[in-house]
Amino acid sequence: MTDTNLIGLAHSDLQVFFATLGEKPYRASQLMKWIYHQGVTDFSEMSNLSKGLRERLESSATIKLPKLVSTQPSDDGTIKWLLALADGNCIEAVFIPETERGTLCVSSQVGCALNCSFCSTATQGFSRNLTADEIVGQVLFATLELGIAKNRGSRIITNIVLMGMGEPLLNFENVTKAVDIMLDDNGFGVSKRRVTLSTAGLVPAIDKLRETQDVSLAVSLHAPNDALRNQLVPINKKYPLHQLLAACQRYVAGKVHRRITMEYVMLKDINDLDTHAYELAQVLKDVPSKVNLIPFNSFPGADFQCSDTKRMEKFRNILIKAGFPTIIRKTRGGDIAAACGQLVGQVNDRTRRQAQWKLELDRKKGITV
Ligand code: SAH
Repeated sequence: MTDTNLIGLAHSDLQVFFATLGEKPYRASQLMKWIYHQGVTDFSEMSNLSKGLRERLESSATIKLPKLVSTQPSDDGTIKWLLALADGNCIEAVFIPETERGTLCVSSQVGCALNCSFCSTATQGFSRNLTADEIVGQVLFATLELGIAKNRGSRIITNIVLMGMGEPLLNFENVTKAVDIMLDDNGFGVSKRRVTLSTAGLVPAIDKLRETQDVSLAVSLHAPNDALRNQLVPINKKYPLHQLLAACQRYVAGKVHRRITMEYVMLKDINDLDTHAYELAQVLKDVPSKVNLIPFNSFPGADFQCSDTKRMEKFRNILIKAGFPTIIRKTRGGDIAAACGQLVGQVNDRTRRQAQWKLELDRKKGITV
């Protein structure tokens, strides 16, 4: 039991943990409130726990957060934190303040195995899944850093997006555990509509998510047909568009006013023509969706360019005319490489080849993830 990091445990797991200490289940919510509401990470300060219990916690558990390596503030208020994990790998988390809301973008893996051709995280390779406590640790870190229980003014986290490094649905168990703590009133208490999981499109895992949790879903679509999507988002070869869009339909079926956010990176002369916009409107016609056009963020070695503003506006207008709420997402934190697809962290064990090989092997074996 030594060294159990308590921030990785959802409420029910914490209750089990306290039972092993011979304690009543309500201790779980007491402890969570200290950590997530008060920002207290030192057992000795948890004054409504008996001295004996605090001592037993000291000897059997920890509350450990990732360590800050560097902070990069952007001119637009965005802050990027490079955080070190216990094994030396580093990940990035980004806070994006807006009027009346603040979004925290967290990572789910060290690196990424999916190898999307326009994403810089892909160039870093894949090392490993984050544990639940490493995912929750990013949120807790940011909450403490932004000034919990003090007057935070506009620096408040109202939204959490799993859009940092990694593919969250390839780390299903840990991600859903962490999301439990984000949603729990004893935890961060964020509303389920304000937690968004972004996926490149792992169909079976989208279905599993639908049965497990009711968070908002964003899908990295980026192309209106399989030929193009196979090149941009290679996982499409395993789960082609018709399968992906059917899973999206199932995800929102029966839910009023719920839409899938379709993310579409704007790549000059690649996927940004009028014909692509019309084709997109056509393939999405039966999927309750809204479209976020993301200006391509460049990175060293990138083979693509961002579409011109005029082109993006034309593209947006075609989709709006076809009935899809469509926005061109504002690039935030571009000056500090904190924008979409620019997060690279520091991956110690670069095993992209291996990870790709494993995906390929799984495909041959017919294993679905
Ligand atoms: N693996 C998940 C989440 C991480 S990426 C996913 O694929 O959805 C978060 C979003 O940023 C995705 O939509 C991704 O396609 C997009 N993105 C990646 N690289 C980008 C880049 N260079 N410029 C703009 N957006 C990018």
